[in-house]
Amino acid sequence: MHVSVVVPLYNEEENVPELHRRVKKVLESMACPYEIIYVDDGSSDGTLPLLEQIQSSDRGVVVLSFRRNFGQTAAFAAGFDFARGDVIVTLDGDLQNDPDDIPLLVGAMKENDIVSGWRKRRKDPFLSRRLPSMIANWIISRVTGVALHDYGCSLKAYRRDVVKNLNLYGEMHRFIPAVANWYGVKITEVETNHHPRLRGKSKYGITRTVKVVLDLITVKFLQSFSTKPLQFFGPFGLVSGAAGFLISLYLSIEKVLFGKSIGGRPLLLLGALLIIVGIQFIGMGLLGEMLVRVYHEAQKKPIYVLRKTLGHDV
Ligand code: UDP
Ligand code: MG
Repeated sequence: MHVSVVVPLYNEEENVPELHRRVKKVLESMACPYEIIYVDDGSSDGTLPLLEQIQSSDRGVVVLSFRRNFGQTAAFAAGFDFARGDVIVTLDGDLQNDPDDIPLLVGAMKENDIVSGWRKRRKDPFLSRRLPSMIANWIISRVTGVALHDYGCSLKAYRRDVVKNLNLYGEMHRFIPAVANWYGVKITEVETNHHPRLRGKSKYGITRTVKVVLDLITVKFLQSFSTKPLQFFGPFGLVSGAAGFLISLYLSIEKVLFGKSIGGRPLLLLGALLIIVGIQFIGMGLLGEMLVRVYHEAQKKPIYVLRKTLGHDV
């Protein structure tokens, strides 16, 4: 089994030498073909020169260097695009993930398509990192239906065809298990080590939580309704439109049959609003339906994924 290790690096010059030494040592001990892909995410410190130096003396290393800082998700995506291994392992480049856990993950790949690390004894501050993360993991598990204790752990292993099929956007890398689940993958968790950051600075703050919540909405929507948007917007539109219609009908009867004045009644406003909102929702759903067709038909994207075909040469 050929293993590709993908590591995103953004201003990690203090960590690069030890990281490489340790990752290489582990991979050598596994006695399988491997490559290490370092993705320099537009670092402005000495990260890139260090990587170039490592690469020039080590043929098992691939270095990808971004023109600017595109973010961790983009770094993973680039790593996936260039990876040649059957199994792709990702980990952070700050040595918070332990390279010594790589064999554990690769071992568990025999029966699984994705193996996710679980930092059970996580060494990050409680209030600013661990608590928000616990809440986020709970919500993400409930909403996506893929229950993991630690979505945020970068130390994960994927079967090659799983990630080759993925399109990642935004801060989406943490949702790969949930997104990939659409393909019908087998996912398991293994407990992994975690260490405090000894060198360099964390690249994230509390604002990441907001981004994660917004990405979750996208993931959930795409997961459930990406091929049938009208099924999502339609019910809201119908309920709102019907309520608006009934209210307006009632007011019309009052006016026409009983001659009451309805001009100053708040209900009139509500009725009109509900009708407009209803039309908007239906319209949005129909637009979505058009987009789905453009997306799938123009790009020849199937709405299914095959495991294999028998008796038919493709
Ligand atoms: N990283 C990156 N691009 C970014 C931010 C981070 O490649 O824009 C890398 C960073 O160098 C590290 C990993 O992603 O290897 C995780 O970042 P960090 O340790 O800052 O996150 P934390 O552990 O604090 O969640
Ligand atoms: Mg870190």
